[in-house]
Amino acid sequence: MIRTEISFLPLLYAAVLLTAILALWLTGAWREWRRRRREWREMGQCRLCATWVRPVTGAELWRCPSCRALNERTVPADL
Ligand SMILES: [Zn+2]
Repeated sequence: MIRTEISFLPLLYAAVLLTAILALWLTGAWREWRRRRREWREMGQCRLCATWVRPVTGAELWRCPSCRALNERTVPADL
């Protein structure tokens, strides 16, 4: 059995609690980052008016809703 002093227990409790909160926060932030990255990969930018739209999935060509130009489906390289 590990022997500790009673004054060490609140410090140990706080360390375990803060570690658990940090782990939950990091997990949530990582999930949010992945969700946003997936959303950006599904979006396309019109090459004529630079509007970001979510094109129909699976279609190679999609039409911009604001200027009606045909655009190719491309994946942004900086994500
Ligand atoms: Zn457009």
